[in-house]
Amino acid sequence: MKLIIVSNRLPVSVKKEGNEFKFTKSAGGLVSGMSDFLNGLGKSKTDITEYVWMGWPGTTIDKEDEDSIRNKVQKEYNASPVFFSKSLMDKVYYGFCNRTIWPLFHYFPNYASFENEYWDEYKKLNQIFCDEVLKVIQPGDIVWVHDYHLMLLPAMLRDKIDNPIGFFLHIPFPSYEMYRLFPKESRDGILEGLLGADLIGFHTHDYAQYFLRTILRILGIENYMGTIDLPDRVIKVGTFPMGIEFEKFNKMDVSPNDSKKPGPDQPKIVLSVDRLDYTKGIINRLQGFEMFLRNNPEWHGKIFMNMILVPSRTGVTAYNQIKRRLDELVGNINGNYGTIKWTPIIYQYTSLAHKELIAQYRMSAVSLITPLRDGMNLVAKEYIASLQDQTGVLILSELTGAAKELSETIIINPNNINEIAEGIEEALKTPEEEQIYRNNLMQKRLKRYNVTFWANDFVNTLLDIYKETKITGEKKILKPEIVNNILNNYHNAKNKIIILNYDGTLVPFVKKPEDAFPGADLHKLIENINKKEKTDIVIISGRSKDQLDGWLGKTKVNLTAEHGVWICDADKKEWELFKPLSNEWKEEIMPILEMYTDRLPGSFIEEKEYSVSWHYHKADIWQSSFLVKEVSDYLLSMTTNIGVQVLHGKKVIEVSNSGINKGELAMHWVSKKDYDFILAIGAGWSDELLFKTLPEHAWTMRVGKLRTDAKYVLKKQENVIELLKTIEKK
Ligand code: UDP
Repeated sequence: MKLIIVSNRLPVSVKKEGNEFKFTKSAGGLVSGMSDFLNGLGKSKTDITEYVWMGWPGTTIDKEDEDSIRNKVQKEYNASPVFFSKSLMDKVYYGFCNRTIWPLFHYFPNYASFENEYWDEYKKLNQIFCDEVLKVIQPGDIVWVHDYHLMLLPAMLRDKIDNPIGFFLHIPFPSYEMYRLFPKESRDGILEGLLGADLIGFHTHDYAQYFLRTILRILGIENYMGTIDLPDRVIKVGTFPMGIEFEKFNKMDVSPNDSKKPGPDQPKIVLSVDRLDYTKGIINRLQGFEMFLRNNPEWHGKIFMNMILVPSRTGVTAYNQIKRRLDELVGNINGNYGTIKWTPIIYQYTSLAHKELIAQYRMSAVSLITPLRDGMNLVAKEYIASLQDQTGVLILSELTGAAKELSETIIINPNNINEIAEGIEEALKTPEEEQIYRNNLMQKRLKRYNVTFWANDFVNTLLDIYKETKITGEKKILKPEIVNNILNNYHNAKNKIIILNYDGTLVPFVKKPEDAFPGADLHKLIENINKKEKTDIVIISGRSKDQLDGWLGKTKVNLTAEHGVWICDADKKEWELFKPLSNEWKEEIMPILEMYTDRLPGSFIEEKEYSVSWHYHKADIWQSSFLVKEVSDYLLSMTTNIGVQVLHGKKVIEVSNSGINKGELAMHWVSKKDYDFILAIGAGWSDELLFKTLPEHAWTMRVGKLRTDAKYVLKKQENVIELLKTIEKK
């Protein structure tokens, strides 16, 4: 079994110099962090024995060179290059990725631009990746797709393959209000793309929740504790805060780089390290530092800020603007406060190797990290991990993912310049033993949940959820051989009963309940089966007896209305109460439901004789998610002692007499004769009790949900009709 990692860039970059190709291994956190995990694959508990990393090699490769490049990177880097032109990559990277997704996902809508062309190119790039993965993948292999460049890939792959697919997002997932700014096609497309995965991972619980809320609001897809039920699959949405290679940062010997903290007579260092990006709060940081200098003249000459800025996306206007602003501000602060002997801000516009970076981490008394939004921020974790003597204070923006795990640091809001200035003061005043105490706690956490742990956790969760889906799916999704067994049992049985739910089973779910009337074909199908020898049909519905009577009264089948309150025997053709019931409780319940109907536009009451349904499928999904809980709790508190039950169905709350359910009712029908063939098909929550109660030899089936007590699953409502037609022909 092989793990296929797919990311925008390969962990190795290829460059043509003259007639030669040069290969440079990338030193990024994901790449080096994953190497421990990947090298240990054979030894881990999973069945994964090998891996391949797929991605773009960093440049346009001529057709005739593709094979030799592929062989080289395959052999030496376990990589499989995805070839396409640099101009397409530039268009996608500088287009939809960095001009649309990046600003929106980081809450900078004014930097976002929405061009249809960007979206088309994004789709094209994802399709190229999909085609390449399909060339490499074998049955049983696992795919792990990384980050925002490839959000359509999971669904594109899911369309073609049955392998486990995981997706991890390395940047924040925004709240619904921000996400909805995407135009409709991309807004739906991204979510549908991601839902092709079996496991979707985020750095923080908040991002996972925002994603779940967004799919609820935009696609109307609900979840239960982060698990989404699709007709034939189960998807898990989870939190996996990415770790770092703790040992590398903690243990690395960085000599000959000086990594000692300056002596008592030398200025202390406030370090800041990041890519030059408008999300990193660099301007706020400078303003905060300036305010600190203004408020604390006693520190002049005794402290300086060492700012390491890694050049990034240099072609993009927003990045060029911020660079100009930054140069100006650094110039002003140094001009206003500096002396011949002292420069308050030393600014390096460069990228350092980890060895040098670790030396800088260890030298600094304070690390100042102020993003306005950051998915995780690995620098924060690396700084803490690197402190061998455990002295040093981290000031960290609460708007980073890392702030959730590094709560012992000084947490600030970067939009408040005062807080940054005060944070520096507080850091400088923190006693050494307190620094050691806090850093020790954080180091222990970082050591345990390191990047290898993170990758293992993700892959194992992916395998678990996939296995659950697969095992359940294989066992439950109705296959032709089972249909044959059903038909044989039907053919040979002496007494046969077919119990059918109505909505979602015999007819599809529709927006307006009154539109779900049975057509002529359905009538004919039911009648043909009903006419067959020794075959009884029971239709069990939650609808009122009048409606059911109007629609199906003329057929000679047994009917049951209001989830089992009323029964109508096919021979007698008379409605009677299944049990003696009272409906006095309705007087108390109706005003409450009326009040909530006024409060929730789109909701409505369906009053039946012995039950009441409050429907809210037409109401705003978000508003209803709050009100519905309130309504249920209110009704439950009122009905506990009066023999009335409150049940929560698919966008409906049902109030009825206790003890009325489809399970009990089904037993009423099946105990009438000695049925040696029982088939029961349902599509809703209320049918689960039916499946649980029927005798062991019953063929029970649920439409469109894998996690069910029914023995078998039919993916779509149409499959019910197909199955009934095979019985009709038998
Ligand atoms: N980094 C580096 N050299 C530098 C500055 C940063 O190698 O001069 C690395 C740093 O060690 C970290 C990564 O770049 O692993 C930055 O990751 P982070 O999550 O902090 O920010 P991102 O750039 O991904 O937004």
